[in-house]
Amino acid sequence: MDKCEKTLLINDFANKKFVERTEWRELLTNLDEDERKALLQLSAETATQNFGKGIFVRGLIEISSYCRNNCYYCGLRCSNATAERYRLSKEEILECCHHGARLGFNTFVLQGGEDAKQSDEWIAEVVREIRTHYPEKAVTLSVGERSAEGYRLFRKAGADRYLLRHETRNDEHYATLHPANMNPAKRRECLRTLKAEGFQTGAGMMIGSPGQTVEHLIDDLIYLEELQPEMIGIGPFIPASGTPFAQEPQGSIDTTLLMIALLRLRHPRALIPATTALATLSNDGRKRAILAGANVVMPNLSPIDVRKKYSIYNNKATTGNEAAEALEKLEQELNSIGYHIDYSRGDYK
Ligand code: SAM
Ligand code: SF4
Repeated sequence: MDKCEKTLLINDFANKKFVERTEWRELLTNLDEDERKALLQLSAETATQNFGKGIFVRGLIEISSYCRNNCYYCGLRCSNATAERYRLSKEEILECCHHGARLGFNTFVLQGGEDAKQSDEWIAEVVREIRTHYPEKAVTLSVGERSAEGYRLFRKAGADRYLLRHETRNDEHYATLHPANMNPAKRRECLRTLKAEGFQTGAGMMIGSPGQTVEHLIDDLIYLEELQPEMIGIGPFIPASGTPFAQEPQGSIDTTLLMIALLRLRHPRALIPATTALATLSNDGRKRAILAGANVVMPNLSPIDVRKKYSIYNNKATTGNEAAEALEKLEQELNSIGYHIDYSRGDYK
C-alpha cells in the first residue's frame, strides 16, 4: 500500500464492516512512525469520546497461587517446584474487600489459579458473601475453565464479570503453549458459555508469547471481532523462572500498544486494561497504554505478604502505583497525562 492508501485505511478501518486480513497485516507490519502515532492518537480520542478522561479502577485480589494446570508460560504452573503457594480464606478475601471499599473501589476482581480446593461452590459462597456486604459493587471472577454449571452458580451468586483470556486463536500455536490435556476449543466454549450466562466477558492474549507470529495476532483480532467481548485483556509475555519458557525473550511494548490501539478502534466501548505486565516492563507502560486507548487499571489489593508469591512472571510490579494503597500516586500519574481515576463500577455500556 502507498502512503495515501495507508492514511485512508487508518482513518476508515474503525468504521468498516469487515477488515480484510491484508489490511490487518498492513496495520500491524507496515506503518511508519508518523502513521503509528496517528493511529494511537485516533485510538486515544475514541476512548475519550466513550469514557471521557476517567480511568476505571478495579481492586485485584489474587486468591490462590495453586493451579492444577501446567501452561508452559506461567510461573504458577503445577510443575514449578520453586513457586510459593498460598490460598486465601474466605475471611481474608472479605478483609481485602473491606480494605478496598475503604479505599473507594467499586469493583473487586478475584483472580487465581485453578485450585481444586477452591471449588465452584466455595467461590460462589465467597461471591455471595461479598454481595451481601456490598450489593452495589461489581464482582469480577478470573478463576479459569469451569463447567457451565459452575459458571451458572457464580452468576446466580452475583458475579457480574468474568475474565478468561483465550491466549491464542491459532490451535497449533495454542498447542505449543500448553500441554496436550488443555484444549483451545474447550476454552472458547467456556467463553461462549460465559457470554450466554450474561457475564460481561473478557478474552485476550499475551503479546510476544513464544512462537507467536503476525498471522497469529491477525487470527486473534478476527476472533475478537466474532466474540465481541466486553473486556479485552492484553499484555506482553514476560518470562517466568521455573517454566519451560524461562529463557524466552519478553514481548514487545510497542506491539502491545499497537494492538491496544487497533482493538480500541474496533471495540470502542470495550473495557481494556493497562495491564500490570506493561507496568512491569516499563515505568511509563501504564501511561503509554492509556494514551493508546486503554481505560482500566487494576491495582493490587491482595494481602501484602502474598503479592510476591503470586508470581506469574519475573519481577511482577506489586508496589508503587500498582498497589491499591497508592491511589493518590496513581491519580497524580494519570493527571500528568490529563486523565483521572473514575471510581464508579465501570460496567460495559
Ligand atoms: N488461571 C486463570 C487463567 O489462566 O485464566 C487466571 C490466572 S492467569 C495467571 C491470568 C493470565 O495471566 C493468563 O490468562 C495469562 O495470559 C497471563 N500470564 C500467565 N503467564 C504469563 C506470563 N509469563 N507473561 C505474561 N502474562 C502471563
Ligand atoms: Fe494456571 Fe492460569 Fe497460570 Fe495456566 S495461566 S498455569 S491456568 S494460573
